[in-house]
Amino acid sequence: MLERVARILFVATMVFGICGCGEDVDDHVVPQGNGPKPSTEFFSAAELTRTIGELSSDEYGGREDGTPGAQMARDFIINELSLCGVEPAGENGTFEQVVTGGSINIIGKVQGTDDVLSNRYIQIAGHYDHLGTVGNGVCSGPGGAICNGADDNAAAVGILIGVACALANNPAKKSILITSWGSEEPPDFLTSRMGSQYWVAHPTVPLAAVETSLTMDLVGSDLWPDYPIHMYMGAETSPELAATIDSVAKPAGLPIRRAGIHLAEQITLNGIPYATTAWSDYDAFRDARIPFVFISNGQNKRYHRPTDTFDQLNLPKIGQEAIFLLDVIWELGNTFVHPSFEKGRTDDLVDATTLVELLTAALASGGIVDTLSLSTTSKSNIQSDLANVQAINNQLAGGSSATATQINKMAAATQRLMCLAGNSYSEAACQNF
Ligand SMILES: [Zn+2]
Repeated sequence: MLERVARILFVATMVFGICGCGEDVDDHVVPQGNGPKPSTEFFSAAELTRTIGELSSDEYGGREDGTPGAQMARDFIINELSLCGVEPAGENGTFEQVVTGGSINIIGKVQGTDDVLSNRYIQIAGHYDHLGTVGNGVCSGPGGAICNGADDNAAAVGILIGVACALANNPAKKSILITSWGSEEPPDFLTSRMGSQYWVAHPTVPLAAVETSLTMDLVGSDLWPDYPIHMYMGAETSPELAATIDSVAKPAGLPIRRAGIHLAEQITLNGIPYATTAWSDYDAFRDARIPFVFISNGQNKRYHRPTDTFDQLNLPKIGQEAIFLLDVIWELGNTFVHPSFEKGRTDDLVDATTLVELLTAALASGGIVDTLSLSTTSKSNIQSDLANVQAINNQLAGGSSATATQINKMAAATQRLMCLAGNSYSEAACQNF
């Protein structure tokens, strides 16, 4: 009962800013006797440089599945986890799971401290594989150049190692499953040979015990130069998960925003839904009806290019992302709440508010129109997207719910920005949403 009171006080503090404000008050509202939060020493610039810099160095050759570079990456990651005290949770007492026809997954765990809650898992992931060199995979650029994959996805693995080590030093009540998938990239993407898809089909801990899945992909850079937004997508399918993310204090200077996963997935042509596509390892967990979040900063102009290198990363931002993720896991890992899952649920007002902020920033000085020297057509389309979304936002803020047409408009605005920020299509093609 006391624990419940402490929990309510803690949430109230986070939501309403209630403050006592002596240090002893904090002692009472830290969740349920786990003592102080885990240390953030593992997210120092030096540590992130060591881990992310290593994995994205030329010696790893772009970490393509089946190459010595991918093996080196696994050896490095497993060694880091072992040194921190993370336990193996793969096949036959090892950290590894062989993906039939694909790659090799890495799975470790930090055992929870509570007799009952430790039977549940918070799963966090960042795939370690990348595209090798130009000419072998889908990475495009001058022949033979190495695609180092610093943003995609060494940065996420660096955060994963840091969070795993922090929690291994100071575990939560629930167990934490540390996963670094192989074969995320083409040609295995979204097939049964994709590491995450394979694990969900062949789980090494009971799938029903995984209560939340947190996937990081493309977390090392900015959506466009010097625009720091950091997205948590998909939590709208679990009201409890969304509430937890909303309640955790955001680091100063890092705008962390929620948005509906459907906005990023629903490809809309001339305002009409055309197709949907998943973007990363969260897809298998969603299919298994597990509450999930896709954590990403989106594709930028270096996506799947040899220019995706360590020196282009935003290290202070990565450190802040890690701290926030650790705080979210600490909340999820110490609560008695078991998040529910509602397929297709949306938080339309949250989406509209996030989009107004994004589109406003896109048009402002230093926004994407400026920094990428976009055409007047792109600019006027973004202006019209903003006008549409602003009207939707005002209407939803007044208490009404969004129509299908309004949701389509928000998806189209999202798709246009993603298209313009990334490098998969020409600027002209981005006008078709
Ligand atoms: Zn990729």
